[in-house]
This record gives sequence, C-alpha cells and structure tokens, in this order.
Amino acid sequence: TETGLQAEAVSLDPSPVAPERDLMGKFDRLIAERQALLDSGVIDPFAIVMDEVRSPTEAVIGGRETILLGTYNYMGMTFDPDVIAAGHAALDAFGSGTNGSRMLNGTFRDHMEAEDALRDFYGMSGAIVFSTGYMANLGMISTLAAKGEYVILDADSHASIYDGCAQGNAEIVRFRHNSVEDLDKRLGRLPREPGKLVVLEGVYSMLGDIAPLKEMVAVAKKHGAMVLSDEAHSMGFYGPNGRGVYEAQGLEGQVDFVIGTFSKSVGTVGGFCVSNHPKFEAIRLACRPYIFTASLPPSVVATAAASIRKLATAHDKRERLWANARALHGGLKAKGFRLGTDTPDSAIIAVILDDQVQAVAMWQALLEAGLYVNMARPPATPAGTFLLRCSLCAEHTPDQIARVLALFDEAGRALGVIA
Ligand code: PMP
Repeated sequence: TETGLQAEAVSLDPSPVAPERDLMGKFDRLIAERQALLDSGVIDPFAIVMDEVRSPTEAVIGGRETILLGTYNYMGMTFDPDVIAAGHAALDAFGSGTNGSRMLNGTFRDHMEAEDALRDFYGMSGAIVFSTGYMANLGMISTLAAKGEYVILDADSHASIYDGCAQGNAEIVRFRHNSVEDLDKRLGRLPREPGKLVVLEGVYSMLGDIAPLKEMVAVAKKHGAMVLSDEAHSMGFYGPNGRGVYEAQGLEGQVDFVIGTFSKSVGTVGGFCVSNHPKFEAIRLACRPYIFTASLPPSVVATAAASIRKLATAHDKRERLWANARALHGGLKAKGFRLGTDTPDSAIIAVILDDQVQAVAMWQALLEAGLYVNMARPPATPAGTFLLRCSLCAEHTPDQIARVLALFDEAGRALGVIA
C-alpha cells in the first residue's frame, strides 16, 4: 500500500538531524515583563474576573462591589428585559448552538431576524452577520481588496482592521491618524487603475476621538476609492438614528460598507457589515471568516435582533449617555487630568498617564476603591501612551458619576497625577 511504501522511506535512526527548537522561547520577554509587574505587588490588570454582574454598571470583583466604567455596554442593553426574554425564548425553541457554518446548517430563523433588524436600523438593502466584529473586519477587508488592489488605512486602526489587511493579498498603505491631507497625498501616489478601499473608523477606541469622515470620504471618492467605516464605538448614539459618526456627518449613501459589532451598544456578541451595494450578497460566497466558522448561537442572535430594534428608538438612553460623557469629561478636565480629547466627542474618555508604573498604580487604586476602568497600553494604544480608558453607559446615574469623579480625585492626588 501507499502507507507501507512511506514507512519504508522514513529513516528510523533516532539521532537528530537538526537541533530541537522550543517555539515558546519567543515569549520569554513577555513572561519576564509580566512577572516583574506582578512582583512589584500589583494586581494583574489583564486577569480580572467578574464574580457577579448586577447591572450594566455594577459588578462584584474580588468580593468588592464595583462600578463598571470600562465596558462597551454604552446603551446598557445587557439587562434589558425584552432582550433577555428574546434570548430565553430562542434558547428554549432552538437549543444552545447551531453546530455549523452559516453556509450549511448554521442559519436559523433568528440569524435572519438579526439581519432584518440591521437592514431596518441602517436603512440599507444588505446586512451580513458574522460571528464577531473582529471577523467582520477580517472577512470584509480581506475579501474586498484582492491582489494588485489597495487598502488604505488610518495608522491608529483597530487590530482587526490590520489583521484583515494581513489576511488578504492587497497592497497596504497607511496614512497618519485622522490626517485628511496625508490620506490625499498617499492616494495620489497610487496607480490610477487598481481598485482601492479606504478603511476608516467613526470613533477611535483608545482616545475616544472621532474621524473627520466628511473630508476623508470626499478625498477617497476623488481618487476613485470605495469606503468602509467601522462604526463599532458609535452605534446607538451617534447621528439622528444612532447609525454612527457617518450618519452624524451627513454621509448616508456615501459610505460603501459599514462595519459594526454586537459586543458594544447591542450588548451581546457578534459582528456585521451593512451595505447598499447591489452585489453585496456575493460576500457570503467568497468570505472565508464567514464560511469557515460556526455561526452564532440562536439565543445570541435573538438577543441582538431584539436589542437592535429597541436601539432604533432609544432616544432617552442616547441623551443620558451623552449627558454622562459630558459630565465625566468636564469633571475630569476641571480636576486637571490630561484627557485623550479636548471635548467629550464620544462615550470613551481616556485619561492619559505618564508611564506604565503610574498607569498601573492609578488603575489599582481605583479598583481597590470600587471602580473598574480599562488599563490600556502599547501596542493597543497610539504612540506609546499609557492610559486609563473610561467608557460610559446610558445607565450610569448622576450619583455614580459623582462617585467616579471623587475616586479619580482621591487616587490622582495620592499618586501625584494631579496637584
Ligand atoms: N472594531 C473596533 C473599532 C473595535 O474596537 C472592536 C473591538 N473592540 C472590533 C472591531 C471587534 O469587535 P468584536 O468585539 O465584536 O470582535
């Protein structure tokens, strides 16, 4: 047989012909860095466990009641009774999972419901649900731009956008963060003929700053490029219908593809792309991160559909979220903290610190006082910054915001971050 022939061809002499290499050796520096941090007596900021979650803004961490100010639960939908009921009903009716790809047996009624809800929410003709937002970027970018074509992206783009570029075969060109001029210059240097995709984000998640999408889209169109905007951090509360920064800047009909996620304002997990392109459905036939992975569980897509339908009219929540963002931004600024943006431009407010030691000390002091914020550091952050990222929720109460400001004040003074 063939296997017999192969066995004869393999030498059974055990003496090695090449030195053994431990592939895990490359992590030694990371392991040592983490150990040094832990040896300095701090809690590991990247190993927090929520023992209990009581509401969108409160959890028990390490036995302590804690205000959550680091989640992406912008609209506080995770405990919405209608959302929970939809999840229960789907779990009961369809079971716990799909056991397959969207392409095969993994499309259930509620995947279609979620896509219908997205089409209505965005007023677009096409919607495709992916298993995460990460995979939506990975899939859309790698599938849209092929060999010989170009992806032009902001230097501060999210990792999923970079990974979408790495997975595809297009040429990659970066432009300076939020620089319309640099985008224009770089597009101008490219050959005229090949297809081009400009990838932008409505809100950049580390500093909470927004893109000048209006100018950028105009520049992209001038150079014949299509535009994809990742609106992960603006869905639900930016623009008259909560569609995102592109809607707020009057760009309906000008952005070819909008990427989003269920893991933030929607309050569950999953990702999507919406588009008016007449051939959009063809993505399902060619996109590897859509085809070669299991689809979302029915309870997840059912909660997503229910949540999206409610977000469409959640005007009071939007207002409360913006009021919270203004209150926290104004309060922290008045206390002398250095912030990622001059004005409250989004639901993310980044407090910039000098270095890792200061960031970790501040983060831990806040946690021990009952406040959880995100510690963020390079490579996730731009230009080597260490920051504490606060993300607000529509359900934070004025009392909670006041408490957050008092805790920042106390910790900031104790550690010499503010005078
Ligand atoms: N895009 C952006 C801008 C993000 O910040 C994130 C997640 N933080 C994603 C995409 C990925 O979303 P998901 O969590 O659904 O994978």
